[in-house]
Amino acid sequence: MEVRLILGDQLNEEHTWFIEPNNHVCYVMFEMRQETDYVRHHVQKIVAFFAAMRTFARKLEEDGHTVIYYTIDDPNNTHNLTKNIEKVLELLGATSFAYQLPDEFRLDKQLKEFSNSLDIKVEACDTEHFLTSRTELAEFYEGKKALVMEFFYRYMRKKHQYLMVDGQPEGGSWNYDKFNRNTWKGGAIPPPYQPDKALAKEIYNQVAAAKIDTIGTFDPTSFLFAVSREESLKQLDYFCDHLLQDFGTYQDAMHQDETNLFHARISFSLNVKLISPGEVIDRAIATYRNRETISLSQIEGFVRQILGWREYIRGLYWKEMPKYKQKNELNNFGKLPDFYWTGKTNMNCLKTSITNSLENAYAHHIQRLMITGNFALLLQTHPDEVDQWYLGIYADAVEWVQLPNTRGMSQYADGGILATKPYVSSGSYVNKMSNYCSNCSYDKKKRTGENACPFNSLYWNFLDDKREELKGNNRMGMMYNLLGKIKPEELAEIKARAYEIIENPDAF
Ligand code: SF4
Repeated sequence: MEVRLILGDQLNEEHTWFIEPNNHVCYVMFEMRQETDYVRHHVQKIVAFFAAMRTFARKLEEDGHTVIYYTIDDPNNTHNLTKNIEKVLELLGATSFAYQLPDEFRLDKQLKEFSNSLDIKVEACDTEHFLTSRTELAEFYEGKKALVMEFFYRYMRKKHQYLMVDGQPEGGSWNYDKFNRNTWKGGAIPPPYQPDKALAKEIYNQVAAAKIDTIGTFDPTSFLFAVSREESLKQLDYFCDHLLQDFGTYQDAMHQDETNLFHARISFSLNVKLISPGEVIDRAIATYRNRETISLSQIEGFVRQILGWREYIRGLYWKEMPKYKQKNELNNFGKLPDFYWTGKTNMNCLKTSITNSLENAYAHHIQRLMITGNFALLLQTHPDEVDQWYLGIYADAVEWVQLPNTRGMSQYADGGILATKPYVSSGSYVNKMSNYCSNCSYDKKKRTGENACPFNSLYWNFLDDKREELKGNNRMGMMYNLLGKIKPEELAEIKARAYEIIENPDAF
């Protein structure tokens, strides 16, 4: 008998493991405190993972496979991955053990060490999900100084022949990002796809009964995670049919009353592997080919996220781990404000983005990067604190995708491996890309004084405090020129205001 482990983010029904049932194979899946407790997660994240895992196990059984599944309240469950596997191996008298390579370094290490301790045959295989291998990005950038994403993206376009005509990018350009930065001025937005929530409701009660320490709330109306392959494909089709035509244009926009705008909300399904990046891109491109209303810039913006950014981030994680997790090149040591767990702040952009995240276990990339991430960086928060928050609060956050996006892209703690400059801004960017400032008690234009927007003083103070760390960064030259034009007396006032905020952010 062979025991095959399936982790909570390895729900790939199309894997060659499942081509046909085998009486000599038993699949094992576990809902464990090891995974619910290593970081404080959003309650909807735990519910979504368990619901997707249970649906997956049921489907395997329907297809004739043998499955041993430990629920969170199963008395057989030790809540430790290797102890659970040992228990099943012994129970079945297994002669071999197999697992799919985990996408998280922590689990990869745990399973490697465990496998080395076994005296039966062990096999580790690919998850058959990504479009690249773990090492493909490292090989691509071998000998190159900078890991510029755009070159990797072009390589992926050519390799997979997406949006290519006779060896050239369709339309003549590789990237239509300049058409993807519009603000949302209002109008009708199709409501988000509503997946079935019956199982999620049932599991929520079990998670609550297990007294797992969680973040956020569970309200079935805001639970938008598809937990089966079938539902995930429907959610993808809904996006292609109703939202893709405006996705690219407004992908960076934010709005007080519109949490989802034109975003697909498929990141959870993708990251637990219910659907694959290849089929997502294929369906989106097929819709683009059949609809005149979808322009090249919309589809290219979407393809870039999945084919370029997602694969790039994953390759970078495996290239740089484990040292990446310790990086703090900007020497930030502050604490994250308490309001990141409550949404109780007078700063409307933060209040809206955090409240959305607490209610939905979701925020789109610009809320994550330019509101919560931007503010955490301006406060000079320790990247460990920021990582823990992002890893916990978002249902789609698995470390391989969360860590480079947070520590690298958002916090610049890697010193520029991933991003060419820190993504910091004053209130003017927030005002340009959203309507948050018009509903805020702070004045977006003021840098000092009681009602001055906190982002403004923090921004100039950040540049001033980080002169040493950023002195060799050419892309920051213009910002430092502007900083140099601020009179010393005014800068002193700005810094006094900034430190008032840094010392007690929860008062603002
Ligand atoms: Fe945020 Fe400042 Fe705008 Fe208020 S004024 S919403 S704090 S950026």
